[in-house]
Amino acid sequence: MLPLLVLSRSDKTVLFMRLSILNFRLTLAVGVLLMATTISSQVQAQKIVVAHRGASGYLPEHTLQAKAMAFAMGADYLEQDVVMTKDGQLLVLHDITLDRTTDVAAIYPGRARGDGRNYVIDFTLAELRQLHVNEAVRDRNGERSAVYPSRFPVGASAFRLNTLAEEIEMIQGMNRSTGRDVGIYPEVKSPEFHRAEGRDLSTAIVQMLKQYGYTSKQDKVFLQTFSFDELKILHDEILPDAGVELNLVQLVSGEESYKWMLVEEGMKTVAQYADGFGPEKSLIIASDSTKGDIIISDLVKFAHANGMQVHPYTFRLDTGQVPQYVDSYEEMLELFYFEADIDGVFTDFPDRAVNFLNNR
Ligand code: CA
Repeated sequence: MLPLLVLSRSDKTVLFMRLSILNFRLTLAVGVLLMATTISSQVQAQKIVVAHRGASGYLPEHTLQAKAMAFAMGADYLEQDVVMTKDGQLLVLHDITLDRTTDVAAIYPGRARGDGRNYVIDFTLAELRQLHVNEAVRDRNGERSAVYPSRFPVGASAFRLNTLAEEIEMIQGMNRSTGRDVGIYPEVKSPEFHRAEGRDLSTAIVQMLKQYGYTSKQDKVFLQTFSFDELKILHDEILPDAGVELNLVQLVSGEESYKWMLVEEGMKTVAQYADGFGPEKSLIIASDSTKGDIIISDLVKFAHANGMQVHPYTFRLDTGQVPQYVDSYEEMLELFYFEADIDGVFTDFPDRAVNFLNNR
């Protein structure tokens, strides 16, 4: 009797063929699966949510707490506005002054400049550590009142300023502990002001990003600035000198000085330096649109034709912040994401935008 395991030549051929077919089917199945994954991640990647100064609709802007909340809400990117301290540290703060969001005037009387404002560049990081961060206030003849009265109470609880490094470490730490890959979206604030003070803010930020592993366009970082001059310097000198390639974003306000960018030729020029375009949202859908007459500009079309993504700002829920041509924040998102075809929004309320995209 032959042992059972000895196969005849023809049996071997059949078995080999079966294995080959199985292997082919497996390969096919894995291929289809990979393709599906790629397609779905591409679709998701097309529409992103950037948490504007964190979940700033719910907690004081640019605090680590506001960033952690935005992370937990599922934002794709968290924004950092970056300014420099007297001792050359990078601080996450929207303004080059401290008066709108801290108690600086009470803690350091007599340190304001001639215009009555306290500048970050005049304080060391150790000094800045003593300040408390509050929900944004406006000052009318010494009367401080909340910019958004229905948001977090001004002065409540205990919030502190933080450095760019501290924030990146928190985001990267949460990426590790959650298995997610949330990106960062730093802005070079007032580069001309910093240069006038003898500081090269852009180079300091790029070096910091490089130190934390952001070195290529595949890394989840967009570096943004309102200054076209600075964008050119970043593209032509600072990034090549640092040996890195990062996604750059040109921010645009409704000011006269940006008008040249908003036409086809201007957009071509910007696209030589930028990977993305961050316009004030009324430049995409005109503020005087009505429910029956939504006026969408050619800006997104021009940007896409030149390979740039478009991430307009700022999408808010507060009273008076949802335009009259829509009935809700979600209807506004529907128009911008899917009629105007933008790629992402800067929003103070990232949970609402994340839920909107997930439910659609
Ligand atoms: Ca910003």
